[in-house]
Amino acid sequence: MAYSDKTRGMYSDILTGLQDAGLFKMERYIHSPQAADIEVEFPSGSSLKKVINICANNYLGLSSHPDVVKAAHEGLDSHGYGMSSVRFICGTQDIHRQLENMVSEFLGTEDTILFPSCMDANAGVFEAVLTKDDVMISDRLVHASIIDGIRLCSAMHDTFKHSDMAHLESKLQLHHDRRLKMVITDGVFSMDGDTAKLDEMAALCEKYDALLFVDESHASGFIGKTGRGTHEKYGVMDKVDIITTTFGKGLGGASGGCVSGRKELVEMCRQKARPYLFSNTIAPPVVAGVIKVLEILSANTELRDKLEKNTEFWRKGLTEAGLVLKDGDTPIVPVMLFNAKLSQDVSRGLYEEGVYAIGFFFPVVPQGQARIRTQISAGHEIHHLEKALDAFTKVGKKYNILGKSKQEIIDMYGM
Ligand SMILES: *Cc1c(COP(=O)(O)O)cnc(C)c1O
Repeated sequence: MAYSDKTRGMYSDILTGLQDAGLFKMERYIHSPQAADIEVEFPSGSSLKKVINICANNYLGLSSHPDVVKAAHEGLDSHGYGMSSVRFICGTQDIHRQLENMVSEFLGTEDTILFPSCMDANAGVFEAVLTKDDVMISDRLVHASIIDGIRLCSAMHDTFKHSDMAHLESKLQLHHDRRLKMVITDGVFSMDGDTAKLDEMAALCEKYDALLFVDESHASGFIGKTGRGTHEKYGVMDKVDIITTTFGKGLGGASGGCVSGRKELVEMCRQKARPYLFSNTIAPPVVAGVIKVLEILSANTELRDKLEKNTEFWRKGLTEAGLVLKDGDTPIVPVMLFNAKLSQDVSRGLYEEGVYAIGFFFPVVPQGQARIRTQISAGHEIHHLEKALDAFTKVGKKYNILGKSKQEIIDMYGM
Protein backbone atom coordinates (compact mmCIF):
# COMPACT_ATOMS: atom_id res chain seq x y z
CA MET A 1 0.00 0.00 0.00
CA ALA A 2 1.86 2.99 -1.25
CA TYR A 3 -0.85 5.44 -0.26
CA SER A 4 -0.34 4.96 3.46
CA ASP A 5 -2.34 6.55 6.27
CA LYS A 6 0.65 8.78 6.85
CA THR A 7 0.57 10.04 3.26
CA ARG A 8 -3.20 10.53 3.38
CA GLY A 9 -2.84 12.40 6.69
CA MET A 10 -0.23 14.69 5.21
CA TYR A 11 -2.54 15.75 2.39
CA SER A 12 -5.60 16.15 4.58
CA ASP A 13 -3.60 18.38 6.90
CA ILE A 14 -2.64 20.59 3.98
CA LEU A 15 -6.26 20.77 2.80
CA THR A 16 -7.55 21.50 6.31
CA GLY A 17 -4.93 24.24 6.51
CA LEU A 18 -6.36 25.82 3.36
CA GLN A 19 -9.85 25.65 4.86
CA ASP A 20 -8.69 27.19 8.15
CA ALA A 21 -6.97 30.02 6.29
CA GLY A 22 -10.17 30.68 4.31
CA LEU A 23 -8.33 29.86 1.06
CA PHE A 24 -10.29 26.73 0.15
CA LYS A 25 -12.11 27.12 -3.15
CA MET A 26 -15.69 25.82 -3.26
CA GLU A 27 -17.30 25.28 -6.63
CA ARG A 28 -20.91 26.19 -7.28
CA TYR A 29 -22.90 23.92 -9.57
CA ILE A 30 -24.68 25.66 -12.44
CA HIS A 31 -27.53 23.59 -13.86
CA SER A 32 -28.34 25.85 -16.83
CA PRO A 33 -26.35 27.02 -19.87
CA GLN A 34 -23.93 29.89 -19.25
CA ALA A 35 -25.88 33.16 -19.63
CA ALA A 36 -27.01 36.34 -17.85
CA ASP A 37 -29.61 34.31 -15.90
CA ILE A 38 -28.35 31.03 -14.48
CA GLU A 39 -29.65 28.35 -12.11
CA VAL A 40 -27.24 27.55 -9.32
CA GLU A 41 -27.00 24.85 -6.66
CA PHE A 42 -25.11 26.34 -3.71
CA PRO A 43 -24.23 25.13 -1.24
CA SER A 44 -24.07 21.67 -2.77
CA GLY A 45 -27.32 19.78 -2.11
CA SER A 46 -29.52 22.87 -1.76
CA SER A 47 -32.38 23.65 -4.11
CA LEU A 48 -31.74 25.58 -7.32
CA LYS A 49 -31.67 29.36 -7.21
CA LYS A 50 -32.10 31.66 -10.20
CA VAL A 51 -29.43 34.36 -10.13
CA ILE A 52 -27.92 37.01 -12.40
CA ASN A 53 -24.37 36.15 -13.40
CA ILE A 54 -21.95 39.07 -13.33
CA CYS A 55 -18.67 37.18 -13.07
CA ALA A 56 -18.36 35.21 -16.33
CA ASN A 57 -15.90 35.80 -19.17
CA ASN A 58 -18.93 35.62 -21.46
CA TYR A 59 -18.26 39.20 -22.61
CA LEU A 60 -20.25 39.05 -25.83
CA GLY A 61 -23.03 36.78 -24.59
CA LEU A 62 -22.06 34.13 -27.14
CA SER A 63 -21.67 31.14 -24.79
CA SER A 64 -25.19 29.95 -25.56
CA HIS A 65 -26.06 32.14 -28.56
CA PRO A 66 -28.56 30.23 -30.74
CA ASP A 67 -26.57 30.72 -33.97
CA VAL A 68 -23.38 29.45 -32.34
CA VAL A 69 -25.14 26.44 -30.82
CA LYS A 70 -26.68 25.67 -34.22
CA ALA A 71 -23.30 25.95 -35.98
CA ALA A 72 -21.76 23.59 -33.42
CA HIS A 73 -24.58 21.08 -34.05
CA GLU A 74 -23.97 21.29 -37.78
CA GLY A 75 -20.22 20.89 -37.26
CA LEU A 76 -20.90 17.81 -35.16
CA ASP A 77 -23.02 16.33 -37.97
CA SER A 78 -20.65 17.20 -40.81
CA HIS A 79 -17.24 16.65 -39.15
CA GLY A 80 -17.90 14.34 -36.22
CA TYR A 81 -17.31 14.51 -32.48
CA GLY A 82 -13.55 14.20 -32.10
CA MET A 83 -10.38 13.65 -34.10
CA SER A 84 -8.54 11.15 -31.89
CA SER A 85 -5.32 12.75 -33.00
CA VAL A 86 -2.96 15.67 -32.74
CA ARG A 87 -2.86 18.03 -35.72
CA PHE A 88 0.27 16.76 -37.46
CA ILE A 89 -0.74 13.09 -37.49
CA CYS A 90 -4.38 13.04 -38.60
CA GLY A 91 -6.02 15.77 -36.55
CA THR A 92 -6.29 18.51 -39.18
CA GLN A 93 -9.61 19.01 -40.94
CA ASP A 94 -10.50 21.64 -43.54
CA ILE A 95 -12.34 23.58 -40.82
CA HIS A 96 -9.22 23.78 -38.61
CA ARG A 97 -7.34 25.54 -41.40
CA GLN A 98 -10.42 27.64 -42.23
CA LEU A 99 -10.59 28.84 -38.63
CA GLU A 100 -6.86 29.68 -38.62
CA ASN A 101 -7.32 31.83 -41.73
CA MET A 102 -10.36 33.54 -40.24
CA VAL A 103 -8.52 34.37 -37.02
CA SER A 104 -5.65 35.90 -39.01
CA GLU A 105 -8.13 37.99 -40.98
CA PHE A 106 -9.94 39.09 -37.80
CA LEU A 107 -6.80 40.00 -35.85
CA GLY A 108 -5.00 41.49 -38.86
CA THR A 109 -2.05 39.07 -38.66
CA GLU A 110 -0.06 37.03 -41.19
CA ASP A 111 -0.89 33.55 -39.91
CA THR A 112 -2.44 31.65 -36.99
CA ILE A 113 -2.00 28.26 -35.34
CA LEU A 114 -4.66 26.70 -33.10
CA PHE A 115 -3.87 25.21 -29.69
CA PRO A 116 -6.07 23.14 -27.36
CA SER A 117 -6.24 26.22 -25.08
CA CYS A 118 -4.55 29.58 -24.62
CA MET A 119 -2.83 28.10 -21.58
CA ASP A 120 -1.24 25.64 -24.02
CA ALA A 121 -0.44 28.38 -26.54
CA ASN A 122 1.42 30.29 -23.82
CA ALA A 123 3.10 27.13 -22.56
CA GLY A 124 4.45 26.32 -26.02
CA VAL A 125 5.17 29.54 -27.84
CA PHE A 126 8.24 30.91 -26.03
CA GLU A 127 10.35 27.76 -26.19
CA ALA A 128 9.35 27.32 -29.85
CA VAL A 129 10.69 30.70 -30.97
CA LEU A 130 13.41 31.67 -28.47
CA THR A 131 16.72 30.17 -27.32
CA LYS A 132 19.11 30.65 -24.44
CA ASP A 133 20.73 33.53 -26.33
CA ASP A 134 17.51 35.58 -26.06
CA VAL A 135 15.72 37.49 -23.31
CA MET A 136 12.04 37.69 -22.34
CA ILE A 137 11.02 40.91 -20.57
CA SER A 138 7.56 40.59 -19.07
CA ASP A 139 5.15 42.89 -17.22
CA ARG A 140 5.01 41.81 -13.56
CA LEU A 141 1.25 41.20 -13.69
CA VAL A 142 1.04 38.85 -16.69
CA HIS A 143 -1.29 35.86 -16.54
CA ALA A 144 -0.21 32.64 -14.78
CA SER A 145 -0.10 30.73 -18.08
CA ILE A 146 2.53 33.14 -19.45
CA ILE A 147 4.57 32.68 -16.31
CA ASP A 148 4.45 28.93 -16.89
CA GLY A 149 5.44 29.34 -20.55
CA ILE A 150 8.39 31.50 -19.50
CA ARG A 151 9.46 28.81 -17.02
CA LEU A 152 9.45 26.25 -19.83
CA CYS A 153 11.69 28.39 -22.05
CA SER A 154 15.49 28.40 -21.93
CA ALA A 155 15.78 32.13 -22.73
CA MET A 156 16.82 34.52 -19.98
CA HIS A 157 13.93 36.20 -18.12
CA ASP A 158 13.51 39.65 -16.62
CA THR A 159 10.46 41.73 -15.62
CA PHE A 160 9.36 45.36 -15.57
CA LYS A 161 7.03 47.05 -13.07
CA HIS A 162 3.40 46.91 -14.15
CA SER A 163 2.84 49.25 -17.13
CA ASP A 164 5.97 51.26 -16.19
CA MET A 165 7.42 52.30 -19.56
CA ALA A 166 10.54 53.93 -18.13
CA HIS A 167 11.34 50.72 -16.31
CA LEU A 168 10.72 48.69 -19.45
CA GLU A 169 13.07 50.97 -21.40
CA SER A 170 15.81 50.53 -18.81
CA LYS A 171 15.45 46.73 -19.13
CA LEU A 172 15.64 46.93 -22.94
CA GLN A 173 18.90 48.91 -22.55
CA LEU A 174 20.25 46.50 -19.96
CA HIS A 175 19.72 43.50 -22.26
CA HIS A 176 20.80 45.18 -25.53
CA ASP A 177 23.39 42.50 -26.33
CA ARG A 178 20.98 39.55 -26.45
CA ARG A 179 20.31 37.91 -29.84
CA LEU A 180 16.56 38.61 -29.55
CA LYS A 181 14.56 40.59 -27.02
CA MET A 182 10.86 39.89 -26.52
CA VAL A 183 8.56 42.22 -24.57
CA ILE A 184 5.65 40.30 -23.08
CA THR A 185 2.34 41.66 -21.76
CA ASP A 186 -1.36 40.99 -21.38
CA GLY A 187 -3.52 43.31 -23.53
CA VAL A 188 -6.17 43.65 -20.82
CA PHE A 189 -5.16 42.68 -17.29
CA SER A 190 -7.79 40.37 -15.92
CA MET A 191 -7.79 41.32 -12.24
CA ASP A 192 -7.74 45.12 -12.62
CA GLY A 193 -9.34 45.59 -16.04
CA ASP A 194 -6.66 48.05 -17.19
CA THR A 195 -5.04 47.89 -20.64
CA ALA A 196 -1.36 47.71 -21.59
CA LYS A 197 0.04 50.90 -23.17
CA LEU A 198 0.59 49.13 -26.47
CA ASP A 199 1.36 52.29 -28.47
CA GLU A 200 4.25 53.17 -26.16
CA MET A 201 5.39 49.57 -25.97
CA ALA A 202 5.39 49.23 -29.75
CA ALA A 203 7.47 52.41 -30.04
CA LEU A 204 9.99 51.10 -27.51
CA CYS A 205 10.16 47.77 -29.31
CA GLU A 206 10.91 49.58 -32.55
CA LYS A 207 13.56 51.76 -30.92
CA TYR A 208 15.34 48.80 -29.30
CA ASP A 209 14.65 46.19 -31.99
CA ALA A 210 12.55 43.93 -29.76
CA LEU A 211 9.64 41.60 -30.53
CA LEU A 212 6.26 42.45 -29.00
CA PHE A 213 4.06 39.70 -27.52
CA VAL A 214 0.49 40.37 -26.32
CA ASP A 215 -1.97 37.95 -24.71
CA GLU A 216 -5.41 39.14 -25.82
CA SER A 217 -7.57 36.66 -23.92
CA HIS A 218 -9.57 39.41 -22.18
CA ALA A 219 -9.69 41.63 -25.28
CA SER A 220 -10.36 39.64 -28.47
CA GLY A 221 -13.82 40.32 -29.85
CA PHE A 222 -14.65 43.52 -27.98
CA ILE A 223 -11.72 45.89 -27.26
CA GLY A 224 -11.11 48.48 -30.02
CA LYS A 225 -13.62 50.08 -32.39
CA THR A 226 -14.36 46.85 -34.25
CA GLY A 227 -13.45 44.47 -31.44
CA ARG A 228 -10.13 43.28 -32.86
CA GLY A 229 -8.38 43.88 -29.56
CA THR A 230 -5.99 46.09 -27.63
CA HIS A 231 -3.76 46.55 -30.68
CA GLU A 232 -6.72 48.11 -32.49
CA LYS A 233 -7.56 50.36 -29.53
CA TYR A 234 -4.00 51.76 -29.54
CA GLY A 235 -3.63 51.93 -33.33
CA VAL A 236 -0.77 49.43 -33.54
CA MET A 237 -2.38 46.54 -35.41
CA ASP A 238 0.68 46.00 -37.60
CA LYS A 239 3.22 46.38 -34.79
CA VAL A 240 2.46 43.37 -32.60
CA ASP A 241 4.55 40.34 -33.57
CA ILE A 242 2.77 37.63 -31.57
CA ILE A 243 -0.78 37.57 -30.24
CA THR A 244 -2.08 34.71 -28.14
CA THR A 245 -5.76 34.51 -27.33
CA THR A 246 -8.48 32.14 -26.15
CA PHE A 247 -11.78 30.98 -27.64
CA GLY A 248 -12.90 30.33 -24.07
CA LYS A 249 -13.89 33.91 -23.19
CA GLY A 250 -15.43 36.55 -25.47
CA LEU A 251 -15.08 34.38 -28.59
CA GLY A 252 -17.80 31.90 -27.66
CA GLY A 253 -16.60 30.63 -24.30
CA ALA A 254 -16.09 26.96 -25.25
CA SER A 255 -12.38 26.17 -25.44
CA GLY A 256 -9.29 26.46 -27.56
CA GLY A 257 -6.68 29.10 -28.15
CA CYS A 258 -4.13 30.22 -30.69
CA VAL A 259 -0.87 31.91 -31.53
CA SER A 260 -1.30 34.51 -34.28
CA GLY A 261 1.29 36.81 -35.83
CA ARG A 262 4.38 36.80 -38.04
CA LYS A 263 4.21 33.78 -40.32
CA GLU A 264 7.69 32.44 -39.57
CA LEU A 265 6.98 32.52 -35.83
CA VAL A 266 3.69 30.69 -36.36
CA GLU A 267 5.50 28.10 -38.48
CA MET A 268 8.09 27.65 -35.72
CA CYS A 269 5.21 26.81 -33.37
CA ARG A 270 3.79 24.30 -35.87
CA GLN A 271 7.17 22.57 -36.04
CA LYS A 272 8.20 22.80 -32.40
CA ALA A 273 5.54 23.83 -29.85
CA ARG A 274 5.02 20.88 -27.56
CA PRO A 275 1.35 21.37 -26.59
CA TYR A 276 0.59 21.56 -30.34
CA LEU A 277 2.58 18.44 -31.15
CA PHE A 278 1.55 16.34 -28.17
CA SER A 279 -2.02 17.31 -27.23
CA ASN A 280 -5.27 16.60 -29.02
CA THR A 281 -6.69 18.93 -31.63
CA ILE A 282 -9.73 21.18 -30.93
CA ALA A 283 -12.94 19.15 -31.37
CA PRO A 284 -14.83 19.74 -34.66
CA PRO A 285 -18.08 21.09 -33.09
CA VAL A 286 -16.05 23.69 -31.18
CA VAL A 287 -14.14 24.68 -34.32
CA ALA A 288 -17.47 25.11 -36.16
CA GLY A 289 -18.79 27.21 -33.25
CA VAL A 290 -15.79 29.56 -33.25
CA ILE A 291 -16.07 29.98 -37.04
CA LYS A 292 -19.66 31.16 -36.50
CA VAL A 293 -18.55 33.50 -33.71
CA LEU A 294 -16.04 35.17 -36.04
CA GLU A 295 -18.70 35.47 -38.76
CA ILE A 296 -21.04 37.19 -36.29
CA LEU A 297 -18.34 39.57 -35.06
CA SER A 298 -17.08 40.39 -38.57
CA ALA A 299 -20.57 41.22 -39.88
CA ASN A 300 -21.11 44.22 -37.59
CA THR A 301 -20.11 45.71 -34.21
CA GLU A 302 -23.53 45.36 -32.57
CA LEU A 303 -22.41 43.10 -29.73
CA ARG A 304 -19.24 44.96 -28.75
CA ASP A 305 -21.18 48.26 -28.96
CA LYS A 306 -23.86 46.90 -26.64
CA LEU A 307 -21.15 45.67 -24.27
CA GLU A 308 -19.60 49.15 -24.24
CA LYS A 309 -22.96 50.76 -23.41
CA ASN A 310 -23.67 48.19 -20.68
CA THR A 311 -20.22 48.77 -19.20
CA GLU A 312 -20.72 52.56 -19.09
CA PHE A 313 -24.10 52.11 -17.39
CA TRP A 314 -22.60 49.70 -14.86
CA ARG A 315 -19.56 51.80 -13.95
CA LYS A 316 -21.71 54.91 -13.61
CA GLY A 317 -24.26 53.06 -11.45
CA LEU A 318 -21.68 51.60 -9.09
CA THR A 319 -19.90 54.95 -8.79
CA GLU A 320 -23.16 56.75 -8.00
CA ALA A 321 -23.99 54.08 -5.42
CA GLY A 322 -20.77 55.15 -3.67
CA LEU A 323 -18.57 52.08 -4.17
CA VAL A 324 -14.80 52.21 -4.73
CA LEU A 325 -13.87 50.98 -8.22
CA LYS A 326 -10.64 50.47 -10.13
CA ASP A 327 -10.39 53.05 -12.92
CA GLY A 328 -10.69 51.81 -16.47
CA ASP A 329 -12.96 51.40 -19.44
CA THR A 330 -13.04 47.64 -20.02
CA PRO A 331 -15.94 45.33 -19.04
CA ILE A 332 -13.84 44.12 -16.08
CA VAL A 333 -15.02 46.32 -13.21
CA PRO A 334 -13.49 45.49 -9.81
CA VAL A 335 -15.41 46.68 -6.75
CA MET A 336 -12.69 47.20 -4.14
CA LEU A 337 -13.29 45.91 -0.60
CA PHE A 338 -9.63 45.49 0.50
CA ASN A 339 -10.42 43.03 3.32
CA ALA A 340 -10.64 39.32 2.33
CA LYS A 341 -13.45 38.41 4.72
CA LEU A 342 -15.47 41.46 3.71
CA SER A 343 -15.20 40.38 0.06
CA GLN A 344 -16.58 36.95 0.99
CA ASP A 345 -19.39 38.47 3.09
CA VAL A 346 -20.44 40.87 0.35
CA SER A 347 -20.33 38.06 -2.21
CA ARG A 348 -22.62 35.96 0.00
CA GLY A 349 -24.94 38.94 0.55
CA LEU A 350 -25.20 39.52 -3.19
CA TYR A 351 -26.02 35.88 -3.73
CA GLU A 352 -28.87 36.13 -1.23
CA GLU A 353 -30.14 39.06 -3.32
CA GLY A 354 -29.97 36.95 -6.48
CA VAL A 355 -26.64 38.13 -7.88
CA TYR A 356 -23.70 35.81 -8.53
CA ALA A 357 -20.29 37.51 -8.13
CA ILE A 358 -17.21 36.00 -6.55
CA GLY A 359 -14.87 37.69 -4.06
CA PHE A 360 -11.16 37.56 -4.94
CA PHE A 361 -8.45 37.83 -2.31
CA PHE A 362 -4.82 36.90 -1.72
CA PRO A 363 -3.08 35.08 -3.39
CA VAL A 364 -5.23 35.72 -6.50
CA VAL A 365 -4.80 39.49 -5.93
CA PRO A 366 -2.19 41.22 -3.70
CA GLN A 367 -2.67 41.19 0.08
CA GLY A 368 -5.08 43.94 1.19
CA GLN A 369 -6.62 44.33 -2.25
CA ALA A 370 -9.58 41.97 -1.94
CA ARG A 371 -12.38 42.76 -4.33
CA ILE A 372 -15.41 41.58 -6.17
CA ARG A 373 -14.50 41.45 -9.84
CA THR A 374 -17.63 42.15 -11.84
CA GLN A 375 -17.63 41.39 -15.55
CA ILE A 376 -20.21 42.86 -17.86
CA SER A 377 -21.62 41.09 -20.90
CA ALA A 378 -23.52 41.97 -24.05
CA GLY A 379 -25.83 39.20 -22.82
CA HIS A 380 -26.97 41.49 -19.98
CA GLU A 381 -30.03 43.65 -20.47
CA ILE A 382 -30.43 46.90 -18.54
CA HIS A 383 -32.93 45.22 -16.20
CA HIS A 384 -30.23 42.71 -15.16
CA LEU A 385 -27.81 45.52 -14.40
CA GLU A 386 -30.43 47.53 -12.51
CA LYS A 387 -31.26 44.55 -10.34
CA ALA A 388 -27.57 43.89 -9.70
CA LEU A 389 -27.03 47.57 -8.78
CA ASP A 390 -29.92 47.35 -6.30
CA ALA A 391 -28.28 44.30 -4.76
CA PHE A 392 -24.91 46.07 -4.45
CA THR A 393 -26.63 49.07 -2.85
CA LYS A 394 -28.52 46.93 -0.37
CA VAL A 395 -25.49 44.87 0.64
CA GLY A 396 -23.23 47.94 0.61
CA LYS A 397 -25.60 49.65 3.05
CA LYS A 398 -25.59 46.63 5.33
CA TYR A 399 -21.79 46.73 5.57
CA ASN A 400 -21.74 50.53 5.72
CA ILE A 401 -19.32 50.94 2.82
CA LEU A 402 -21.35 53.24 0.53
CA GLY A 403 -19.75 56.64 0.05
CA LYS A 404 -16.73 55.53 2.03
CA SER A 405 -13.16 56.04 0.85
CA LYS A 406 -10.54 53.31 0.61
CA GLN A 407 -9.02 54.46 3.90
CA GLU A 408 -12.38 54.51 5.69
CA ILE A 409 -13.14 50.96 4.55
CA ILE A 410 -9.69 49.79 5.68
CA ASP A 411 -10.14 51.57 9.03
CA MET A 412 -13.44 49.70 9.54
CA TYR A 413 -12.43 46.24 8.37
CA GLY A 414 -8.64 46.11 8.22
CA MET A 415 -6.59 45.07 5.20
C1 LIG B 1 -7.99 32.84 -19.44
C2 LIG B 1 -6.64 33.21 -19.88
C3 LIG B 1 -5.79 32.28 -20.46
C4 LIG B 1 -6.15 30.83 -20.57
O1 LIG B 1 -7.07 30.60 -21.57
P1 LIG B 1 -7.62 29.11 -21.80
O2 LIG B 1 -7.94 29.04 -23.25
O3 LIG B 1 -8.81 28.96 -20.91
O4 LIG B 1 -6.51 28.17 -21.43
C5 LIG B 1 -4.56 32.72 -20.91
N1 LIG B 1 -4.18 34.00 -20.77
C6 LIG B 1 -4.97 34.93 -20.21
C7 LIG B 1 -4.50 36.33 -20.09
C8 LIG B 1 -6.22 34.56 -19.73
O5 LIG B 1 -7.00 35.46 -19.14
